[in-house]
Amino acid sequence: MDELSNPVTAPPPKVFLETFGCQMNFLDSELVRGRLAERRYAFTTSREDADVVAFNTCAVRDHAEERVRARLHELKRAKERRPDLVVAVLGCMAQREGQALLQRFPHVDILCGTREFGRIDELIDRVRGGGGPIVALGDHDVLPDWKRDLSQRPHRHSAFVTIQRGCDRACTFCVVPRTRGPEVERTMDDLEREVRALVDDGVVDVTLLGQIVNAYGRKSGGDASLARLLRRLDRVPGLLRLRFVTSFPTLLTPDLMQALTDCESVVSYLHLPVQSGANRCLKRMARGYTAEAYLRLVDRLREVVQKVELATDIIVGFCGETDAEFNATVELMRRVEFVQAFIFKYSERPGTAAAQGMPDDVPQAVKAARNQELLALQESIQRRRNRARIDSVEQVLVDGPSKRDKSVLSGRTSANRIVHFRADAAMIGRVVQVRVRDATALSMSGDLVAAG
Ligand code: SF4
Repeated sequence: MDELSNPVTAPPPKVFLETFGCQMNFLDSELVRGRLAERRYAFTTSREDADVVAFNTCAVRDHAEERVRARLHELKRAKERRPDLVVAVLGCMAQREGQALLQRFPHVDILCGTREFGRIDELIDRVRGGGGPIVALGDHDVLPDWKRDLSQRPHRHSAFVTIQRGCDRACTFCVVPRTRGPEVERTMDDLEREVRALVDDGVVDVTLLGQIVNAYGRKSGGDASLARLLRRLDRVPGLLRLRFVTSFPTLLTPDLMQALTDCESVVSYLHLPVQSGANRCLKRMARGYTAEAYLRLVDRLREVVQKVELATDIIVGFCGETDAEFNATVELMRRVEFVQAFIFKYSERPGTAAAQGMPDDVPQAVKAARNQELLALQESIQRRRNRARIDSVEQVLVDGPSKRDKSVLSGRTSANRIVHFRADAAMIGRVVQVRVRDATALSMSGDLVAAG
């Protein structure tokens, strides 16, 4: 009788699961944990101690894949010593590379693609029963969210909820349509049920996730839309904060803008990736808007939603980016003054339109210099804007102890600014008022003036 068929006496097999990449990947790992917990798998934070080592991977940049490749190299010796160790690669990198990954790392037992998470337990069982290697890259479980085990979420008062997966656009630099497939959506009824269950279980802060989150509704037809969904969820008693990422500029409808002002729980923060401030560059990226159109949208948004703060993503050194094009991005950043900007050096992704038809011709040194220039600019904007809030009283949702100093609590304003202050841990999960006393580019600190 093997271990799996003798649940009474055999110790549960231990899983080490490491996650790379975006919030969607972290939520997917939560779903994977739920599947495995249901099947009596235990979890460990030590790779050496594990019977199953699984990496939930990201393919958006080469750097993220490089880290997984390094982990797989490290595991080669362990697998030689312990042939029964199960090694699994999950998610975007598995989906992008497929069999090629197995050829390079023959000690990998499982490739589990982005639409197969829902049967990870079955795949591991098969390998432990002597099967393998297994390549599961199909569409077996396109929306694994229905199997969610709420008890597996890592934070008690905040939670991610997937509303939409995949992307039908084809930005030339982006590997997501290839790794995540076409758009699929959950129904509004299903989502409201999940959010109510989360709130009943202590959640006050929900982030709705989608690769192109404001496209929500266009696949299902009917009356579904992100604006309508926000209005429905805003009525859930006890839900204090509602956010959503990541939006696409041309899909920011007047209806959605209005919902941002009308819904009390929806935060005054919008992540709206611009990617470049130069029209020719935007055209090569196939973004479908101009810098002027983006700026008009920002102006309109700020008229309708007065306190809104914007965050963005920017790629520097995209194929053919000239000095003048880069300077246009600098100008756009100065003009908009984002509250946060995620700035990346372009990294060619195999299989994308850019990789197939556009030379990656901006030298690394130029990419690095442009990256540094934008980071410095953003830092100066953030420092000035954060310091302008000194003496103001901010509504702060308390997340928990600060990562750097456990004696201090850390929370976020509605515009996603981080605030540190001293207070009792009983405040965690509540919205409190903090008077800002000091600020840096990255965070603000202050004194608690009112609790909840
Ligand atoms: S909209 Fe976003 S996810 Fe979709 S292809 Fe463009 S960058 Fe990628």
